[in-house]
Amino acid sequence: MKDGLPHSVEKEGKREDGSSFIVNVQAIPVFDKDGKSRKFIEVAEDITQKRAIEKELKLNQDRINYLAHHDPLTGLPNRTLLYDRLKLAIDRAQRYKEQLSVIIFELDGIKKINDALGFDARNQLLKNVSTRFKANIRKTDSLCFLGRDVFGMVLDKADSFQRSSFIARKILSLLKFRPFFIFGHELHLTASIGISHYPEDGQDVESLLRAAESARGQARENGGDGYQYYQAEMEKRSRYFLRLQGELHRALEKDQLTVYYQAQVAPAENKLSGIEALARWRHPERGLVSPAEFIPLAEETGLIVPLGRRVMEITCKQAKQWKDAGLLPFRVAVNVSPLQVTKGNLEQTVREVLKETGLPPQHLEIEITEAALAKNPEKTLQVLTNLKNMGVALALDDFGTGYSSLGYLQKFPIDRIKIAREFISSILHNDRDAAIVESIIALGKKLGMGVIAEGIETKESLDCLLAFGCTKIQGYYFAKPMDGKTLTAYLKDWCGRRTVYPLKI
Ligand code: C2E
Ligand code: MG
Ligand code: MG
Repeated sequence: MKDGLPHSVEKEGKREDGSSFIVNVQAIPVFDKDGKSRKFIEVAEDITQKRAIEKELKLNQDRINYLAHHDPLTGLPNRTLLYDRLKLAIDRAQRYKEQLSVIIFELDGIKKINDALGFDARNQLLKNVSTRFKANIRKTDSLCFLGRDVFGMVLDKADSFQRSSFIARKILSLLKFRPFFIFGHELHLTASIGISHYPEDGQDVESLLRAAESARGQARENGGDGYQYYQAEMEKRSRYFLRLQGELHRALEKDQLTVYYQAQVAPAENKLSGIEALARWRHPERGLVSPAEFIPLAEETGLIVPLGRRVMEITCKQAKQWKDAGLLPFRVAVNVSPLQVTKGNLEQTVREVLKETGLPPQHLEIEITEAALAKNPEKTLQVLTNLKNMGVALALDDFGTGYSSLGYLQKFPIDRIKIAREFISSILHNDRDAAIVESIIALGKKLGMGVIAEGIETKESLDCLLAFGCTKIQGYYFAKPMDGKTLTAYLKDWCGRRTVYPLKI
């Protein structure tokens, strides 16, 4: 017994019937008149039941903790636990200046399996996959199930860069080379795997997970069955696009869209023969933005329809002014996207814009790419035929880069072919490209179509094209795209001092 201090101990005892009990014995010192304690009063309390309740509570708590941190279907740790483990791993990596990797992967085609075999089959498959992974992947690699068909892992090893690719390949081979048998079906699986690294791709839980997710999306876009490292660039790009999208909406409202014009010439005769309208975005901070940057985005978001109409309005209004000033004996070409033809009611737009601006249809040419013809051939044929009947001319842009199908040339009412810039730049040193260009020119002539080559920058390529029999040219060698005012002066110059190519309208 401790000297003179109150204390307590727990003791286990046995009852007569053999059952055990626990008592808590408290010893309270009793002091004599000298202030010394020589005796203790002991109070014994049976705490058997209290301990039993506490034990049960602890078990329940453990169970709740388990359920809160594990997925009930696969029995694997869940997203919450992945967060915790990743947080710990980052702290550790920071302290010891180590690397770590996060892997997130999804099973390809699970939705198809779900649709074909049902939800139970999908669940059974996820269970089997998890069991196989548990048996083949180190516990310290923290395999977690994040929901749907997505798994995650944290590899907190110093050499995680090499290990992450090793694990990624292991995941793929675990899925691919041994089939899963579900309800009598033999299934071969693949996965899309994304990998991010600490510290390069992020220094906290959220950034590392986001980076791995983003890489996983990229792996999926690449067709699945593979792994992809996160590239900070990728995220920067998608953030940039998101911002651009919002700005593009406002650009239309705030009238920031403008049009540049590039002259087309008939060099042998030294005459101007046409104009192509090219959209530009006058961005308040970034200056003039190229259509190569914003047209694809506008196409993706559907904004191309109102944007295309605006380009058409600006161009036709400008063309009418040139016509009224006696400066427009030829056509002005406007580029249109597939979506404008299939969804945007192009025919009506052209009709309305020509009416509003007063430009005769014979002065308008629509440039369309082969992709547009391929998208919805029936509808496109109908729209193009109607436009043609209105008097509008049709040019097939960037010919040679897409399908280059002779069928299209015969089926659609095309007036002229524009040979893609990609070929022109290589005709001088690539015999194959030179042969393609030569045949396109011959083909156009055979079919009674005009041919124009674009992207001519040098005297050498010009001479080559002329030798091939191409009579119309568009390119920096003669003129770069110019704003409306500059082109007006340019037109005046040609009309006054030089000759313009008279188009029979
Ligand atoms: P595109 O229709 O093939 O237009 C020709 C592009 O080549 C233009 O680029 C023009 O500036 C450029 N170019 C012309 N000559 C030369 C040259 O000698 N060298 C080089 N390096 N480039 C030359 P831009 O203006 O950047 O337009 C790019 C593309 O954006 C266009 O290619 C067209 O597909 C698209 N685009 C432009 N405006 C519109 C529009 O209003 N609607 C739609 N749907 N697309 C448009
Ligand atoms: Mg064009
Ligand atoms: Mg082109």
